[in-house]
Amino acid sequence: MAPSTLRIIWLYPDLLSTYGDRGNLLVLAHRARARGVEVEPMQIRSDQHIPQSADMYLIGGGEDGPQAVAAERLLDDGTLARAADDGRPILAVCAGYQILGESFYANDRCHPGLGILDLRSDRGESRAVGELSGEGHPGLGVGSITGFENHGGRTRLGEAVQPLAHVSAGTGNDGVAEGAWAGHVIGTYMHGPALARNPRLADVLLAWAVGVDPAGLPPLDDTWPERLRSERFAALAPE
Ligand code: GLN
Repeated sequence: MAPSTLRIIWLYPDLLSTYGDRGNLLVLAHRARARGVEVEPMQIRSDQHIPQSADMYLIGGGEDGPQAVAAERLLDDGTLARAADDGRPILAVCAGYQILGESFYANDRCHPGLGILDLRSDRGESRAVGELSGEGHPGLGVGSITGFENHGGRTRLGEAVQPLAHVSAGTGNDGVAEGAWAGHVIGTYMHGPALARNPRLADVLLAWAVGVDPAGLPPLDDTWPERLRSERFAALAPE
């Protein structure tokens, strides 16, 4: 049954919040309210305990130092892994995405991740910076995806996750696949912020949170997001 008020937690704004990632929270709140669902957005800093009772958890990107600190605090806290087990939707971007895996590299050292997603991240030979686009996994029904990436890590997916998308421009995990999903957990290298550029991805998360099929959500006027998307895809088209 749909919760009367959707509690969405933006995690660790003091450590992980680059390239407008907090915009994901704003997009979700807007798209829920436009459909008559009340939203209670909450920001939980890294020195606070994470409430277990939220309907969705968002975590953003960051530099290596804050990323390693965030991973230690999330491991100590334990709430995020329990939320994933309970089927609560989680969206994790870049550093946050790497943290959800089994392990990741930061400042030339391998760190344990939360083990929520079956994947491992290590260092690439060069930094991946620029536009990222691809074709979303058909099982998610999100169509083409578009974002901005800036990361040194590369990610190898295990068998228990699906790629979020097949890369057509940019790098994503490894130049072939971008992001990962399993259950109600999605990880991505897309900043931009990801949900402003991919409203169908936002709707998949909302549908999971309220317990309906994404196709069952009332449509919204997406004229402006579609303009933004067209502009970004056109920027990648050969001259
Ligand atoms: N520190 C990580 C990397 O460089 C994540 C970067 C980010 O979140 N933008 O791979």
